[in-house]
Parts: sequence; structure tokens; C-alpha cells
Amino acid sequence: MKSRPFQFMDVPRRLPRELPATLRVLGWQEIYGGFSAPEAADQSGRCLDCGNPYCEWKCPVHNYIPNWLALVREGRLFEAAELAHETNPLPEICGRVCPQDRLCEGDCTLNTGFDAVTIGAVEKYIVDEAFRQGWRPDLSQVVATGRRVAVIGAGPAGLACADRLARAGIEAHVFDRYEEIGGLLSFGIPAFKLEKQVIETRRGVLEAMGVRFHLGVDVDAAKGHELVRDYDAVFLGTGAYTFVDGRLPGQALPGVLPALPFLVANARRQLGRPHADDPAFDLAGKRVLVLGGGDTAMDCVRSSLRLGAAEVTCAYRRDEAAMPGSRREVKNAREEGVRFLFNRQPLEIIGGTRVDGAQQATGVRLIETRAVGGRGNAAENVPGSEHVVDADVVILAFGFRASPAAWWNDYDIQLTGEGRIRTTGAGGGTGHAKLFAGGDNVRGADLVVTAVHDGREAGLAIARQLLSDPDTR
Ligand code: FAD
Ligand code: SF4
Repeated sequence: MKSRPFQFMDVPRRLPRELPATLRVLGWQEIYGGFSAPEAADQSGRCLDCGNPYCEWKCPVHNYIPNWLALVREGRLFEAAELAHETNPLPEICGRVCPQDRLCEGDCTLNTGFDAVTIGAVEKYIVDEAFRQGWRPDLSQVVATGRRVAVIGAGPAGLACADRLARAGIEAHVFDRYEEIGGLLSFGIPAFKLEKQVIETRRGVLEAMGVRFHLGVDVDAAKGHELVRDYDAVFLGTGAYTFVDGRLPGQALPGVLPALPFLVANARRQLGRPHADDPAFDLAGKRVLVLGGGDTAMDCVRSSLRLGAAEVTCAYRRDEAAMPGSRREVKNAREEGVRFLFNRQPLEIIGGTRVDGAQQATGVRLIETRAVGGRGNAAENVPGSEHVVDADVVILAFGFRASPAAWWNDYDIQLTGEGRIRTTGAGGGTGHAKLFAGGDNVRGADLVVTAVHDGREAGLAIARQLLSDPDTR
């Protein structure tokens, strides 16, 4: 029983210490610090324990939020870490990158006048602090089954699947074309949202649980067939990497960069492993214009500032309320000095001739838009409102679609019109009994936490299938 049931009235919502914007843009460290134990207990104690935890329902992995908040309040950190992992294989990562304002915290009962509990920051605290104090998942009671599953993709979906397999005594072998685990956690989301050390720590934890990583392995058709043949099941957690092409005239001009190669090249520079085929770019002193309004666009504008751009503008075709990304990220970008142009549709990238005679992007022709029929996706151009915004570098952040592999056709994998895998049931089953799928390749570009959900469910479904098969016992 809580000694102070109305603590939320005396203790205001507080996020952990945040670096001032002027310092943030000088480096790549995460902008939020962590709670101390008393701060975490104080913030957790604000939970009303309202009896119908909307936060839990809104959380895609249905975390036992009020229960671990109570454990933190009581200082029972390791129990909280154990409980957090029951539903979420990557809690310290979701605590950092989930758009909590749209998910758990958005549905907190305290939003009716008292501000939501800082659920994400407490989730991050639980695992960071438990790891720091030496807590690790306890698999001492797990009995090895002798079964082996191949996981293609070391993104959050693949990692979550591998975690559940390991806990069921199944050997998980994770294959990825990148040289480090994490997928977009490592090669998309910049370090100021998620420091690379966090992923390294998680890699160590998974390896200690028995998960084996095979990195730098591109699973082509030959390798794919081999995995299906040699393993008891295969999980496809391959993400969504088909760039949504805005088909803008002038987009092939030098100075125009697609978002993901830009972010990946930047991540590799930071990991100290640049690739020869990474796009070359130097933003120091340049005017950068980013087209798009999602999380990727926010990561591009904020990365550009840290790379020394003199001026960074984001142009989005609808209004601020319609932006698909996290409100918190828009706020952070604005604080750091990004200028936003809402209701602007790009028409063309304009080029000019440099002193050396080469062509170069010099700006973007935009037209103003207005919503048609209230909210929703529809917007129409406002006649006569065309104008040019000057820029030295233009970054295209229009999003991504699924990228199905041709070899999947040999296994009756059904796709939607946009190339997403059609799954059956919650466990990510496909048209082939040995193949499961989840994450962005099923949903289209979505969220870390939904990928974690899918990977977790697929891992459990694979374990159920393999362990109920008489051949395995
Ligand atoms: P991915 O993370 O894409 O991982 C797929 C992995 O599969 C990759 O490592 C890839 O190399 C590997 N792979 C694919 N094909 C093969 C193959 N043939 N052989 C070997 N390996 C292969 N979500 C949030 O919740 N919060 C955010 O703040 C956020 N920011 C984002 C910022 C950016 C720039 C982007 C692009 C996305 C962001 N997202 C964010 C979305 C989130 O990162 C994704 O939804 C999530 O990572 C999807 O997980 P996944 O495991 O399905 O795929
Ligand atoms: Fe909130 Fe995400 Fe954690 Fe769920 S996983 S409680 S949505 S931060």
C-alpha cells in the first residue's frame, strides 16, 4: 500500500537532467542524463495505481508499468529489472527511443491536469542501473533443447526473437550484413538519442545468454536456402529499406543526399568504421534543407547541426500537428536551432553551376499547401504560392518501404501490394511452417517497440512449435 497515494500532487513530473541545447549540438552524447535512485523513486511514486492502467494497454509490448513503478518506489531494483524483461527484451532501448508522448505516457491517467508519470525514463533507469550493479537475466534454470533457429537481421525484431529463443533453451544464431548488431538502432538512430555503448552492453548480455551473432553476412538466396535447410526455423527480421522516392526533378544533383545513407555513413564514422562506398559529405558552414517530417527527418536535421551546418531547415508538406514523428523530437530540434517550414510541398530541386563548372544543388522550389477536408493525409497546393528556399545540401527523408527478397518466393511467403510480408496470427507465421517474420518487413517502417513486440511473439511461437514437436523431446 502506498504511504502517499497523492504524491503526484506534491511531486511534479520531472525528466532526468537535460543538456542545454547550446551544449548538445557540440557533441553526440545522449541529451538526457539518468535518474538517481531517489529521483526514480520519487517519479515512480507519482503513479496513481489507477486500477485500469491505460498506459499498459497503450504500450505495444504491454509492459507491467504500475508494477515496476511500485518496485522502483520501494527500491527493489533487481525485481523491477526482472519484471521489465518479462514483457520487453530491450527495455533500456525502448525507454530511450519510444515516442512515449504517443504511447504509454500519452495515456497516463495523470494527464488530466497533473502531467504523466515519466514512464520511459524510469524504464531506462531500471535497466541501466541494474546492469551497472551487476544484474543479468538469470537463465540458470533453462534446459538446452538442442534446437537451433536462424534469425536474419540483428535489428530490434531479431534481437527480441533471439532473446525469447535463448530463454526457451533454443540456440539462436543471428545473421546480419552489418558489422555490428542493432539494425537501425546502430545504423539509423543517432547517438544523441541512443548511445552506441547501450547497444554494446546489450550485445554482451545476449551473448552471455547464449545468442550467437554472425555479422558482416549478407543473406542472399544461396545463404537463405541453406539456413532454411539447416536450421529448425528461420525468423525474418530484415526491416524496411526501400527508399520512398519523391521523384523530384533535380534529385540526382550533387548536394542531394538520401537520409539513410547519410545517417548510416555518419554512424559508421562514429563507430570508427567508415566504408569506401559511404556518400561523401561535408556540412560545415552549409545551409541544409531536410525534406520530410518523421523521426528520420528529425534525426537528419539534428545530425546536420552537430556536423557543423550553419543553418538547418525542415520543410514538411502538412502542419505541425500532422507530423508523424515524436513531439519530443520536434521540440528538441527546435530548441537546437532548426527552422521549420510547415505546409510546404517540394516541387523541384534547383541546381546551379559551381566555380569549377560542375552542377550543384542550390535550393528547392516549394509550394504552400492547405489541408483538404480537415485532418488526414489530403492536402492541396495553394495556387501562386511557389517560392525557392536556398540550400547547399538537400536531404531527402520521405520514409521507407519494405524490401522483400526474391528468394522468399520459393517458400510461399505472401506479400502485400507494398511488399510487406503477410503473417498469420500473432506469432508472425508465414505461408511456410519453418519461416516466421516481424518488425518493419511486416508493418512497413514503424517503431522500435513494435518490432520488439513482433520479435518477442515470433520467438515464443517458434519455441511453442519446436517444443511441442515430438522430434524435439
Ligand atoms: P531494422 O532495425 O531495420 O533491422 C533489420 C536488420 O536486418 C538490419 O540490421 C539489416 O542489416 C538486416 N538485414 C536485412 N536484410 C538482410 C540480409 N539479406 N542479410 C543480412 N542482414 C539483413 N523508432 C522508434 O521507435 N523511435 C525512434 O526514435 C526512431 N527513430 C528512427 C530514426 C531513423 C533514422 C529511422 C530510419 C527509423 C527510426 N525508427 C524509430 C524506426 C525503427 O528504427 C524501426 O522501426 C526498427 O528499427 C525496425 O526494426 P526491425 O528489426 O524490423 O528492422
Ligand atoms: Fe512506454 Fe515504450 Fe516502455 Fe512501452 S516500451 S512502457 S511504450 S517507453
